[in-house]
Amino acid sequence: MSEFAFELELCAHLESVGRPETADTDIVARQLGGAVAKPGGRILDIVCVEPGPAFEDRLALTSETIPDAAIEADVGPGTARYWKRAFPDDCHPERAKSAVERALEIDFFEADLRNGRRYVRQVARYPDWYGRIVGIENKPDLGTPGDLEAQLRTDASLGLVDEAVLATESYVTRAHLNRIPEEIGVWRVSRGERSEGSTAGALEIEVIREPTPLAVDEPGVEPLEYQPGHTDIAIVPPERKARTRRRIAERAFGKGWRTFRFPDCEACEPTNDGGGETSDAVGDGRPGDSGSGATTPLPFCQWKGRVVDAESECGPACPGYKPGAEPEIDLETERDRRTPWRRDPSGRRRRQSGLDQFG
Ligand code: SF4
Repeated sequence: MSEFAFELELCAHLESVGRPETADTDIVARQLGGAVAKPGGRILDIVCVEPGPAFEDRLALTSETIPDAAIEADVGPGTARYWKRAFPDDCHPERAKSAVERALEIDFFEADLRNGRRYVRQVARYPDWYGRIVGIENKPDLGTPGDLEAQLRTDASLGLVDEAVLATESYVTRAHLNRIPEEIGVWRVSRGERSEGSTAGALEIEVIREPTPLAVDEPGVEPLEYQPGHTDIAIVPPERKARTRRRIAERAFGKGWRTFRFPDCEACEPTNDGGGETSDAVGDGRPGDSGSGATTPLPFCQWKGRVVDAESECGPACPGYKPGAEPEIDLETERDRRTPWRRDPSGRRRRQSGLDQFG
């Protein structure tokens, strides 16, 4: 299985069935930054965010990612403030302006005009909405590990997520386990029995090793560059980790994992393979079908016999390409329908509120 297919199918499974031995339904997202000192230096394949005590309040607030600068701004739900005075001196005016603009657009801020100046307040206090964050590194084939060991060493020493897990399809040997930091959990992902009408069985996860909770409240060590004979590192204080964790949770909430598209090729037949039993069973994923065990449809290619990445694999250069219509599947609607997330929780259409209109 390609890493892309593995990732989509595992996301679908985790969203519908949950992580092994957990009762909660997480917010599941993919491809989020997992570094602090060197943003972009580590990308987490899958992130699972556990709902916290005020999850319902977050659901009601906005479906989008709330910009970090807007959350940190000195703006509460009580008294409105002149927007230019709500940001610390070290916040660049353009960053402040775009944060206010976006916060207004997504209904996190509301504004009124006084003497030609725009005053803003939060629509509701930013809620304590997320709990533990779990990072999952996908490596279906341990025979081609790439940077796997370095990536997992970063996760263990930085302690940005509460737990880090390696997910693989390979048979995991004692030698593999010895090379992976002991804090990292290991899942072996396999397929169960193929059901009638499905191209493959649902995923099953065997826990080979439980993850050890990481020290998110303590300083972390982030490797920056590996040089001959030594490694450049940054010591990351817990406050910076906490801010980055909030950014990860917000990005996960706004982005989710359905960041793919379907190919405009006749060989693509959307399928729900990879999922498991769900309470919201609506079929085998093909548009219009109904049945059991469904999750969000995935871009399954009949010609390749697997889920494909339309961005990098599909088009006239592919020998199996037959021009056709892209399946009409609205992935935001799928997310709205199958998870607690709501695409428009306020029931209002988005406002456009460019700051150019006010001072
Ligand atoms: S991989 Fe090729 S055959 Fe399959 S859906 Fe994409 S373009 Fe079509």
